[in-house]
Amino acid sequence: MCDLKFGAYVYEPEKAEGFDFHVLRVKVETGARIPPVQDMHSNIAVFADNVAARSHPDWISQSPLGPARMGNSNFNIYWDVVCATQPEHRGEQLDYIEDVDRHSRGVWLNSQFFADHGHCTCPRCNELWMKSGLSWLEWRRKEVTNYIAQVRERVKKELVMCIQPDPVTSYERYGVDFGDLAKYADAFNVVMFSKNYATPWYWEMLARGFKTLLKKPVYISLYVFGPGDNVINVPSASELLTVSVRCARTGIDGILYLTSGASQIRDFQKAAVDKVELRERLKSYGSQPVQEVLDLVKSWEKIVG
Ligand SMILES: [Zn+2]
Repeated sequence: MCDLKFGAYVYEPEKAEGFDFHVLRVKVETGARIPPVQDMHSNIAVFADNVAARSHPDWISQSPLGPARMGNSNFNIYWDVVCATQPEHRGEQLDYIEDVDRHSRGVWLNSQFFADHGHCTCPRCNELWMKSGLSWLEWRRKEVTNYIAQVRERVKKELVMCIQPDPVTSYERYGVDFGDLAKYADAFNVVMFSKNYATPWYWEMLARGFKTLLKKPVYISLYVFGPGDNVINVPSASELLTVSVRCARTGIDGILYLTSGASQIRDFQKAAVDKVELRERLKSYGSQPVQEVLDLVKSWEKIVG
């Protein structure tokens, strides 16, 4: 029996063989949307939305260090982020989320919170904060949590909260309270994307920390091969196998592998299968969860063989 679940996390609506489930990026941070697929889960970026920001420049989240616009290097932002209290965007996203849920296996949300620390100081947010009578941070938390409660009313299937890999200051940065979100989420997905996993110890520590903090099942997502990537700039199969095994032994509930599409998943599966010596060595890294990762790779032998 396998306790760990393994997912393919993709930008194109084709299912790769050899996984328990499939998450399709139906709305990405650029704002681009593709139709959901009935037998895949749907990933939606809510407030990171270049299209909405381009159409409504006054919706962009504001801060003392400037707007949440692509290119503002004060923040870890690679796209434009809409203010998390913008009522029209919130409403449109709720309707969209409900529709996507109906046409797929459920919704995995990311960017469903404030852009980063210091956001948002737009006139509407300032007014809402003043009226709330709460501290600045508690007001932000309430805004995020109330919106997630509204999302929960719309999503009838699985609702997963993707969160940034910050176990300590997510409250200060994003208005995210893990306990609040756990009340509405079926699971969490900690996004651990990196162009290499050369030091697996750090990722293992993060996985262990999140498993301790989060009161719902915890998935992690690892970066394999994104759209437009070159093969020399992505994590090696050896790094991905090692970091998978080391994170698995922390007690997390599943691992997702991000690629642009099913064919890049197959390339990864083939490269992983070919690491015969490493797969043998990793058997000594831990008990059942480690063996489950290695069994998964073994099961890929007949797919890529
Ligand atoms: Zn605002």
